[in-house]
Amino acid sequence: MLDFEACGARARRVSPRPSPAIAGFLIILILIRSAGLSVIARGDARLCDALRKAPVVSATRCAMWRLDRPTLGGRTVQGRDFEIKWIHDAADEGLLEAWLKERGQSVGDGSREAMIRAARHWRGLGEEGDDAFEDKGVVLPEARAWIKAVAAKEAAEREREKASTEAQLARLEPVEFATTRCCARTYATGVPLLRCARCKRTFYASKEHQEAHWPLHKRSCRHVDDDEAAGIAALGMAACFNALARSLQAGGDATTALLMARLRALFDAGADGDGNVEMQIHTLGRGLIFHADDGFFDRLWAAPGMASHLLFDDWLLNEIERKERRWFPLGVPSEDALGDMEPGPARAAAETLIAHDAQTLGGFGGFGGSKPSMKYCYIYFNVVVASTVQGRQSMSSAHDGRGRIRRGEVGNAARGRAMQLWACPYVRKCCGDALAPAPSLAYTHVAGLAAGVRAGLPGFDPFEDAPGVVDAALEEASQGVASQHAVALLEKMVECGGCVWRACDVAGRARVAVALASYAMDNNRYDDEGGDDDGYGFGYGRTAVKGSVLAGLFACLFETADGRYEDKHRGWLRAQILRAAADDEAAVGPLGKNDRPRGFFQWLRIKDARAAKPATDAAAGALPDDVAAAIGDFAAPDTPVDFLPRLQEYDALKEDDDDDKRAALRHARGPTRDAKWQAMIASWSKSFKSKA
Ligand SMILES: [Zn+2]
Repeated sequence: MLDFEACGARARRVSPRPSPAIAGFLIILILIRSAGLSVIARGDARLCDALRKAPVVSATRCAMWRLDRPTLGGRTVQGRDFEIKWIHDAADEGLLEAWLKERGQSVGDGSREAMIRAARHWRGLGEEGDDAFEDKGVVLPEARAWIKAVAAKEAAEREREKASTEAQLARLEPVEFATTRCCARTYATGVPLLRCARCKRTFYASKEHQEAHWPLHKRSCRHVDDDEAAGIAALGMAACFNALARSLQAGGDATTALLMARLRALFDAGADGDGNVEMQIHTLGRGLIFHADDGFFDRLWAAPGMASHLLFDDWLLNEIERKERRWFPLGVPSEDALGDMEPGPARAAAETLIAHDAQTLGGFGGFGGSKPSMKYCYIYFNVVVASTVQGRQSMSSAHDGRGRIRRGEVGNAARGRAMQLWACPYVRKCCGDALAPAPSLAYTHVAGLAAGVRAGLPGFDPFEDAPGVVDAALEEASQGVASQHAVALLEKMVECGGCVWRACDVAGRARVAVALASYAMDNNRYDDEGGDDDGYGFGYGRTAVKGSVLAGLFACLFETADGRYEDKHRGWLRAQILRAAADDEAAVGPLGKNDRPRGFFQWLRIKDARAAKPATDAAAGALPDDVAAAIGDFAAPDTPVDFLPRLQEYDALKEDDDDDKRAALRHARGPTRDAKWQAMIASWSKSFKSKA
């Protein structure tokens, strides 16, 4: 129960560079917070005592403040903020001097500033200037009224904008859930499939596969006729859940997949299950992980329709994300790129989708998993995870994918599927913390990989998408509830070195290089200091990835042992990865995302090209004419890259002051890139016109 509640707590994700709309909203939140915090904490005896002892501040006023206290959850920081506020109020009312003298404290030269400084020093409240409300000179009662008025106005404005965005989204053509048929024995798709004559919802690539599968399938093979199917499709939330729980706990039957579909439809139609059913769904899903019998999952996956649903269906996406993926398969253009788009339906769609994202705070839409996809993910993802690992009972078991890896093809396929779902940014956006067991499951997998154990099914090797897994882990480390598992996973990947990258090509590795640079820049992770506080007070442990881990991952990218690149090609590989990180559209995402990290890799290349040039060129000050050509050939391939120090050096340069950085950024946004954007945008416009 505790864990379930904690799952909802992730909604306050704060983008490192918020859009103006979000920034405005956040400022209001901060203002509301500082006003709230500056009111006395109920039951803070020390403060109340201090207030009572202070002249003029009466017990009545103290009681009044007590009543005014908004509920913000009893954090000690409230006392500090209040105390600072009180010191300022006391100074305003001319009371501070008497108060300090009465307590044997120095008043300095008697100026307001000196007394405030003395009071802060005495109370251990830190230096002046680091308190948001104080810098703004906010005074409590007026501030409260003002904040209330502003907040109401902003809220009304936001509601209006949200309604307008939703109306525009509704006009985009709907995209149905994708379902894929596969062979129930081999999970093959895209081949001619035969249908089981009895249940009519199980498919096989050949008669032999069907016969081999029959011992598992016969238990659940039964035809569900139209009447029974219609009955299931009409079930309400509680009845549907109860039937699904029975069916799953029995190891699957002819109705399991139909009941899963009904549950998803109920969520999509806005049924909320009153919270209670959602809790039970979570408990049911997590409970399956403790099942000791691997055969239980073999039988569950052999039930009609289950294998294809668990392996291929995109039912973890919501309607809007399905539209988004359809219109912008490479990702929605960044806000910066909008200016480059011709006015028209493509740009309007991009604007609407960006606005929707901002209005739902990065796609979460509130606490407690209010999105239909997230509710469904609690059952779907937990069935997948339980199919690949037998969990241990532990304090964090609700967020835990650790345990004994299950034997057999179902276990292998499920492990790959779990990683594939987690590595998909659309699924992460839609399901958030319902994916919490993924990082520790990935950890289990990497540890196995290091020991030579690999998932065996074609198309389901989790580390074919190692770049996606790194992206997901970095995101989880910054924002998720399983951050400590994500950090441990990344550390494990460093330990394993090149073995996890052997399935990755140059573009994939370059993608990781860009992600690492981006993470280091956004989180200021150039060293191993700090990083033990998750900032939300939930106590989930370390949430920031250490600089040394980032540097280690970066170094791993160039490792070739046991991979598709031979060791003698290491220097070549390094040059290609860095070049792709600087240039490659596919490696960095479309339309102007990640200009800073790409600029960094470009700068590295310029640096190296310069180092290889005669000193006279460098002495001339300006970039040599042929620099564009020179930076095309990454020099000194055998010199190791000191990733973090050089990133820090680059980041510290002001754009205006450094020729190399200017040149690098110019290149990153340069004409080649513009041409690519224009071509991409033109093709979108065309597809919009043809669809419109
Ligand atoms: Zn059948």
